Amino acid sequence: KIDPCDDMTGVSPAELAKRKKLAYVNKSPIEDSHCSNCALYLPPGKGKSCGGCVLFKGPVRPTGYCAYWAPINN
Ligand code: SF4
Repeated sequence: KIDPCDDMTGVSPAELAKRKKLAYVNKSPIEDSHCSNCALYLPPGKGKSCGGCVLFKGPVRPTGYCAYWAPINN
C-alpha cells in the first residue's frame, strides 16, 4: 500500500515539475529547517500525516524541505 505522502495520483505533470524544480525532498538535510516550520507549509488535515505547500500541489511531508524554505515570522 502506497504511503499517502507518496501518492501523486491526480497531481499534474506541471505540478510535479514545480516540485522538482524547487528540489523538494522528503527528509530535510538541515536539522532546524523543514516543511513543518516553513511559512509556506499547509498543515495536514485532521487525521492526515502529510500536508501541502502553497507553491505546488500534492502531498508534502512535515519532515521535508526545498529551496524555498522560509522562516515563520512570529
Ligand atoms: Fe516545504 Fe519548500 Fe513548501 Fe516550505 S516551500 S513547505 S520547505 S516544500
